[in-house]
Amino acid sequence: MASTTTYRRLLVLHNAFIVTMDPESRVFRRGAIAVEGDTIVAVGPSDEVLDKFSSAQLVDLQSQFLLPGFVNTHVHTSQQLGRGIADDVDLLTWLHRRIWPYESNMTPHDSYISTLLCGIELIHSGVTCFAEAGGQHVSGMARAVEELGLRACLAESIMDSGEGLPVAWANRTAQQCIQSQKELYKKHNNSAEGRIRIWFGIRQIMNSTDLLLKETRDAAKELKTGIQMHVAEIASENQHVASTRAVDHGTVAYLEKIKFLEDNLLAAHSVWVNEGEVHSLAKAGVKVSHCPAAAMHMLGFAPVREMLDAGVCVSLGTDGAPSNNRMSIVDEMYLASLINKGRDAFSKGACDPTALPAETILKMATINGAKSVLWDNEIGSLEIGKKADMIVVNPSLWSMVPLHDCISSLVYCMRSENIVSVMCDGRWIMKDNKILTVDEKEVISMAKQASAELIKRAGIQMPSRMNIL
Ligand SMILES: [Zn+2]
Repeated sequence: MASTTTYRRLLVLHNAFIVTMDPESRVFRRGAIAVEGDTIVAVGPSDEVLDKFSSAQLVDLQSQFLLPGFVNTHVHTSQQLGRGIADDVDLLTWLHRRIWPYESNMTPHDSYISTLLCGIELIHSGVTCFAEAGGQHVSGMARAVEELGLRACLAESIMDSGEGLPVAWANRTAQQCIQSQKELYKKHNNSAEGRIRIWFGIRQIMNSTDLLLKETRDAAKELKTGIQMHVAEIASENQHVASTRAVDHGTVAYLEKIKFLEDNLLAAHSVWVNEGEVHSLAKAGVKVSHCPAAAMHMLGFAPVREMLDAGVCVSLGTDGAPSNNRMSIVDEMYLASLINKGRDAFSKGACDPTALPAETILKMATINGAKSVLWDNEIGSLEIGKKADMIVVNPSLWSMVPLHDCISSLVYCMRSENIVSVMCDGRWIMKDNKILTVDEKEVISMAKQASAELIKRAGIQMPSRMNIL
């Protein structure tokens, strides 16, 4: 861990191509950023910043890119040890035979190791802040986030009803769910030097009573925190809501009816929403996390362009390892653009190559991400007074050469390998591709062991593929 003196030092990163993502979308071809402790104190042309902070420690970035750290707004950190357990299976097998047995057999230690492993992948892909989608053992997650040096909004997986739940989760009441989350809030909110915030979770509407929804809405309002919930993921979810809860369309229409749609709600996926529901989301200020890989895996095409046009704040998420396998927000940026360009090919007979251009995608991964996690007063762009959460991108590797359009290259060419250094809260957590906060090799070794034991304990059976001898 860095010493206090190192942490509080005045540092100037200069000679960088800075993409600030500030309200004016300023880009400095040869720029510098001064950081004091955990805060940005100057952003501008290199010469000006260097003149003003001549006694600072200098880091010459040699024309590399400097960007705000990415925000992953939907990731299941406790699912990382389950990567590969549910590929190429139908939705019911995915949930009932793989994910629920896996999650219900996790220990707090498994969750800690899983979050460490996930965090390593997040850091390599330039993420400095993430929103947990709702997982097992928040205390294990919090311990890992503190050690990794990341920023996070953590939430517990919350269900108080539903068919076929594992024994360990059945019979949990709405009151118990709320009480447990309030205790987690008391224990962990604002911990890790203010890098951890505790949110409320709702797994999905089919596993929630109305009482749970209303109590969650009220408790989150009382504590001034957010709610993360999977919303309108699959078509049958809407059919289920329409048939059991007496509403015309589906989840969003119902949530509006019970006054659950508020600006502190982060709705994951929101694939099956109609035009009226898109406007309801926009009107209420609900944020949407678009997870393109997971959507293609088993959900469908979300109307992302329509949501953005209507004024909905849409950000990007990876979802969990068993629904995506790659926890790289860099891959999600690339996929989000391609999927939304190609979406109209069947319905309108042609793709729209102008849909979701590179600057929109960068916005979704940075400032929209920060707005989605209710933290945009401190992160999401490189501006004076904000936290020093930023990443250094080396464009001189095979993947980004030659460089004709810097902004499009960051979306269409960049790979995780181009991200060489990551700073969170003014502290380098990865430098020159090496993670500085945890021992990557040791985490990988612990993860292999914990995962093997967990899969065995959960009794998860996977058929062998092809003719593996
Ligand atoms: Zn999810």
